[in-house]
Amino acid sequence: MDYKKLADLLFPNLPLTTQEIEKKYPPRKIKEGEIVSRYAPSPTGFMHLGNFFQMFISYALAKSSNGVEFLRLEDTDAKREKAEAKEVIYQILNHFGIKFNEYQTLDGKDIGAYGPYVQSQRADIYKAYAKKLVSEGKAFPCFCKKTEGKEDVVAQRAIKFKNDDEKEYDPCRNLTLEQVEEKLKANKPFAIRLKTKNDGSQRIVFNDLLKGDIEAKANAKDFILLKSDGIPPYAFAHAIDDTLMGTNLVVRGEEYISSTPAHLELFDALGFKHIQYCHNPLICKIDENGNRRKLSKRLDVEADMRYYITNGYPNDSIFEYLLTLLSSSFENWRSNNPNTRWQEFKFTPSNITAVAPICDLVKLNDISKTIISKMSASEVYENVLTWANEFDKPFAEYLTKNKKYAICVFNIDRETPKPRKDIYCWSMVKEYFSYMWNAPQTNELEDADETNYKEFIKAYADNFKLASSKEDWFNGVKELADKLGYATDNKLYKANPEAYKGNTAKACEFIRLALTGHKNSPDLYEIMTILGENEVKSRLNAVK
Ligand code: GLU
Repeated sequence: MDYKKLADLLFPNLPLTTQEIEKKYPPRKIKEGEIVSRYAPSPTGFMHLGNFFQMFISYALAKSSNGVEFLRLEDTDAKREKAEAKEVIYQILNHFGIKFNEYQTLDGKDIGAYGPYVQSQRADIYKAYAKKLVSEGKAFPCFCKKTEGKEDVVAQRAIKFKNDDEKEYDPCRNLTLEQVEEKLKANKPFAIRLKTKNDGSQRIVFNDLLKGDIEAKANAKDFILLKSDGIPPYAFAHAIDDTLMGTNLVVRGEEYISSTPAHLELFDALGFKHIQYCHNPLICKIDENGNRRKLSKRLDVEADMRYYITNGYPNDSIFEYLLTLLSSSFENWRSNNPNTRWQEFKFTPSNITAVAPICDLVKLNDISKTIISKMSASEVYENVLTWANEFDKPFAEYLTKNKKYAICVFNIDRETPKPRKDIYCWSMVKEYFSYMWNAPQTNELEDADETNYKEFIKAYADNFKLASSKEDWFNGVKELADKLGYATDNKLYKANPEAYKGNTAKACEFIRLALTGHKNSPDLYEIMTILGENEVKSRLNAVK
């Protein structure tokens, strides 16, 4: 067979040859140890936490090696493409402050010398390599149709043509040049398939950064390199793009391990050097029945990166949380370095965990509470305001008008040696401090306490004056409690509870209920000082 002639017949007018293309993509000038890695999302209108996790591994490894991290949009699957899907990716990455060294801007400008960074703009490159493989007898055209008569779905399937269990040779690999010519004359669409050189008996070994050497059966399938629309499925685009773009570490999900033998056969056929893989484990979740399963886009709201944005988690909380999932040594480092920025954590391939991490919102919330407890009230204010500007306009307006007051509210129990760890995301702030914005409409009073509550609050409201210190205030409460038959000595109360209406703690609980509606709240005296004498009086008087 004259393969060169076959290649010219299939691809008569390509603008560039592979030699010309390779001149445009010279090897990168990088130093020993510098990692060139990439994040290659498919724009589907959704970003899974696992996908972001993978980006973070690649990003952290490349950046901490002083290398290059680039963004490549893998938009070759037109069926999965959704309008605005690119915007979703950019918005999320932007929100988290991810800065790539190379990428294409939303309006189509390539930043970096190895673009275009969007696969749908690289069709001529893929065709040039397909032509090269055909001309070397390593690939062939396939004219099989999925459904007779439906030209548009031609040859997109993985044909199940099995000679035995081991290999899948496509019947079109045996077409003669004349037969191909005839079909082309009849305008039959064609896909390009790899002509595998294996017969199913070979095995290969490849190295994975996290899992070490992996032994697997070599590929023995004539898989598709170019679909009939000229667009490559993942494997072909991966081999070409990662090679031309100078990637030296491919971080991707472990679902790709099973197709790695096919990718490696392709690298060999193309004459490309293999690239180090790092297959990261998929994030799991423990379900209600205690079973481990994959974190699911369909079942789990927390699988969607937008969940963390709309709920207003600080970015640092998400990154620290991902680091705990990523590296077993991070938590230890964190407890030894409680006040160091997470960016200082030395992130290396050897401290990435190879086991499937478990997504656990309780854990994330704990991390986030600690992070927020270390912020100043002004920082909290700025963060809540930024969040509210996007997700709760009326609250943003309120905060803008009442800046000083809101900062005082956020400062309650904050500047102390042991600041309160209660807030974990900005969307909870409005409700959490609702009694600081408005008088409570309901309270958690227990029915049995009603008479004592009303009696105590009425007496407390009479001649109420805001005390000038916490101590004075507390002594005042004690005095009144004593007068009304409450124990001010807890030992006495415990020895004989029947003899009292309650103890001082009960009296404070009543005041707290009247002012906040809750049995528990941050420091009551601070709350009263911020609310001010008039507001406190009015809330006390509202208890009828
Ligand atoms: N577009 C592929 C995905 O989103 C990328 C896989 C890779 O990083 O190579 O799964």
